[in-house]
Amino acid sequence: MPVKNRFAELHDDITAWRRDIHANPEILFDTHRTSALVADKLREFGCDEVTTGIGRTGVVGVIRGKSDNSGKVIGLRADMDALPIHEQTGLDYASNTPGAMHACGHDGHTAMLLGAARYLAETRNFDGTVVVIFQPAEEGGGGGREMCEDGMMDRWNIQEVYGMHNWPGQPVGKFAIRPGAFFAATDQFDITLHGSGGHAAKPNETIDTTVMASNLVMALQTIASRNTKPVDEVVVSVTSFETSSHAFNVIPARVRLKGTVRTLSNETREMAETRIRAITEGICAAYGGRAEITYMKGYPVMSNHAEQTSFAAEVARAVSGACDEECEPTMGGEDFAYMLEERPGAYILVGNGDSAPVHHPEYNFNDEVIPAGCSWWAEIVERRMPAA
Ligand SMILES: [Zn+2]
Ligand SMILES: [Zn+2]
Repeated sequence: MPVKNRFAELHDDITAWRRDIHANPEILFDTHRTSALVADKLREFGCDEVTTGIGRTGVVGVIRGKSDNSGKVIGLRADMDALPIHEQTGLDYASNTPGAMHACGHDGHTAMLLGAARYLAETRNFDGTVVVIFQPAEEGGGGGREMCEDGMMDRWNIQEVYGMHNWPGQPVGKFAIRPGAFFAATDQFDITLHGSGGHAAKPNETIDTTVMASNLVMALQTIASRNTKPVDEVVVSVTSFETSSHAFNVIPARVRLKGTVRTLSNETREMAETRIRAITEGICAAYGGRAEITYMKGYPVMSNHAEQTSFAAEVARAVSGACDEECEPTMGGEDFAYMLEERPGAYILVGNGDSAPVHHPEYNFNDEVIPAGCSWWAEIVERRMPAA
């Protein structure tokens, strides 16, 4: 079956919600307006329960099917937060908040899950319970983790969870998924190297931190090339190199390096941290310097569960005719990882067409994705919990 006809009728409404959310972006946990809008709509649609303030500004809605012989409860999750980017789309509904922008399409995700909630509350053509989950702070704040820590999964007895993200560069409405590790663990390091500064014309009287740090930047690249199995993935990127002196003729006493580590397995993740520490200490020892290392663990690896992944792909094929079931993993992070650590489930990508990439100031969610995205949500529910 193709997209559901009801979503063609609702397309204009859902587009209007999406554009309203787009014009009013909110960052991290500050999704007050968006959360209120979501909660109002869920009540208006006749959801059986609407709860706000889960994971600070998260919203949870409950929709019961016509019957509940199965006792099943499925969670459907969307993210609501925007990014600290200054929008440059020139759209008539562009961000009205300078320095904040829906540049990852979470406006579209929220609107599509609202559309699905409206349809499911109208039709209730399933045997079980749907929990719609709207989370704040996906972009680095761990809003998904906070909702889990608030006991969401147990409180609503959620048994499976599903998530979706739009994907620029993939045809509109075409789905892609993979079982197992899909999005990377995202860690950060902050290293300060201490030497002793001095006159640039007398380097022999100093412990030169710029030479030490330059060697370290190069040596960190051997984690990917020499320490990781060739079939495993790891990214170690130094993204900031800051010296304590900015003069032409002074050797700085300190250099601070910052960067990110992306991995697709826990073993590689642990190994990368161990090697970063060992390489840093070793290089400092070789040059007579000293290091302070702060390693910050971010989102874990997001891993799709096999059974729910093949079900999600089957639904995607039914909705849009085709689904790439073995797409490449991405080294980006996704805090739906925390929900997939607590419950089996799957996360799918839906094509956003030929748009600018996400996190780009000219990116925009494509409203033509709405019928496919909403239909996928609705079909997940109606096929997983068929009406008695
Ligand atoms: Zn993003
Ligand atoms: Zn995103």
